Amino acid sequence: MAEKACKECNRIVEDSDECPVCKNNDLSTSWSGLVVIYDSEDSEIAEKLEIKTPGKYAIRTR
Ligand SMILES: [Zn+2]
Repeated sequence: MAEKACKECNRIVEDSDECPVCKNNDLSTSWSGLVVIYDSEDSEIAEKLEIKTPGKYAIRTR
């Protein structure tokens, strides 16, 4: 099954049509880059991408 990325928060969504973080259902299959956030409070990249929930995120979505 293809992984999709939430256009709102960039969260990678697997086996679902809804983002588990922001409940958005506007998902994109055109995304690139992948970051895994383990601890959003101690991560520069999480801060940069405005990620507050640990998980997998795309760098870019279209
Ligand atoms: Zn989202």
